[in-house]
Amino acid sequence: MGMQSIGRPTAPVAANASLSETVSGSKGLQQREDLIFEVGAWDKTGVDLPTPKRNRDRLGGVTRGTDTSLPGLSEPEAVRHYMRLSQKNYAIDLGLFPLGSCTMKHNPRLNEKAARMPGFADIHPMQPQRTIQGALELIDELATWLKTLTGMPAVAMSPKAGAHGELCGMLAIRQALIARGEGETRKRVLVPASAHGTNPATAIQCGFIVDEIKADKRGRVDMAELRGKLETTDDIAGIMLTNPNTCGLFETDIKEIADLIHAAGGYFYCDGANFNAIVGRVRPGDLGVDAMHINLHKTFSTPHGGGGPGSGPTVLSDALAPFAPVPYVVKDEDGFRLVEDIEGEAAQAFGRMVAFHGQMGMFVRALTYMLSHGADGLKQVAEDAVLNANYIQSRLKGVMTPAFDGYCMHEALFSDEFTADGIETIDIAKALIDEGYHPMTMYFPLVVHGAMLIEPTETESKQELDRFCDALASVATKAAAGDASLKGAPHLAPKKRLDETRAARKPILKWTPPEPEAIAAE
Ligand SMILES: *Cc1c(COP(=O)(O)O)cnc(C)c1O
Repeated sequence: MGMQSIGRPTAPVAANASLSETVSGSKGLQQREDLIFEVGAWDKTGVDLPTPKRNRDRLGGVTRGTDTSLPGLSEPEAVRHYMRLSQKNYAIDLGLFPLGSCTMKHNPRLNEKAARMPGFADIHPMQPQRTIQGALELIDELATWLKTLTGMPAVAMSPKAGAHGELCGMLAIRQALIARGEGETRKRVLVPASAHGTNPATAIQCGFIVDEIKADKRGRVDMAELRGKLETTDDIAGIMLTNPNTCGLFETDIKEIADLIHAAGGYFYCDGANFNAIVGRVRPGDLGVDAMHINLHKTFSTPHGGGGPGSGPTVLSDALAPFAPVPYVVKDEDGFRLVEDIEGEAAQAFGRMVAFHGQMGMFVRALTYMLSHGADGLKQVAEDAVLNANYIQSRLKGVMTPAFDGYCMHEALFSDEFTADGIETIDIAKALIDEGYHPMTMYFPLVVHGAMLIEPTETESKQELDRFCDALASVATKAAAGDASLKGAPHLAPKKRLDETRAARKPILKWTPPEPEAIAAE
């Protein structure tokens, strides 16, 4: 397709500030677009209906006295409004999306085609189960793949995101402790310092207390600290550990960690968001895991990041399986059916997490992805994801500082050590926007100073990786040289540096009309 690499800019960006401003407010071919309320003429309407002759009585006297306060746009104006907004999005269909830990991979169009088949797309959750046998069979087949790939005996399909899967696994652990008569005495959940924020949040949501474990110099769980905690406490409920961890490193002591936790009477929750790095190569069940969520929207290519709902099926060990939430699919002589009854055959279930059975559309996409790759293809997914991340690490290690020695797994982690005084991670991230890229994950994991976490996934070609590395290397070189132009980046985006903290803490979510005086003054 003849895409050229972006070379290094020869002149400092925005040397002439007026060049980055335009009369129209548009930049290049990106049109400026205001809020729909600001665009819309209030007295206009997009439809051209003849004035009704006698409408006064037909509404029985409840005719609106005031206007509808909706902007009036014609069809082409409405279409352009949303088209212009859509062009402000960065998307996986547009370019490499380097967000670490998020596994932003290509969403195959074959998945979309399968999900739109009427037998999956046009059914209703309240339909009699004998009329949706194919859909139930699909859920059952996907469950079989997930159990096989993880080496686990059971899976709860209904959780609707990774964090929701964490909730499922931790509620199952709580229920198992209650069944053992230890619900009140075992409250402590160990969480490594590098964990995703959802892990401690989930533990607390389930009524546990969180006890943090340090990372050692190699970026893995500090085993001495872990042993110390297990020796001095007798209230361990379990551990929540990510593997590969969020430093992009395999926890090499994982089997010993599982044994120690089990010996202390606790359960091992594994955050499986990074499963993409090991799918087809390592079965978490063999490592002693009791519960692990799988982000179908990460490892199994279903759309996310604005593109679709998540889905977080959670695999469970024999010890936790009896506590799995309803509903779940079983097969008997009459075919497939959903077990919904907590009074009856699912008496030990901790309850129900969602109204129906989970994200059907995502189940179809994920199974399509699995079947189109096959067992050998899924193994290659993990191998190529790790290869791509190591390619990035090795191409950038001359200009940036890798956070840890040695090879990484599926994501490359850098610290801000290489930057000149005054230049920070955020400046590098913002300068990447000028180069046409969504920034990488910044300041996470917290155990690395000024962290930059880059996950390319297996779906990027060498050309795309090189193009990204060229851009980031040029920004990093400027950061090392203390180039002050980075402080003002992005220079080419429609909006410059925003006060993101204020936007997050005090979001203005409602448009308020300008004061009438202000209109009169204009
Ligand atoms: C993405 C992610 C989660 C949460 O998953 P969601 O689907 O976003 O709720 C949890 N842990 C890690 C390590 C992740 O990367």
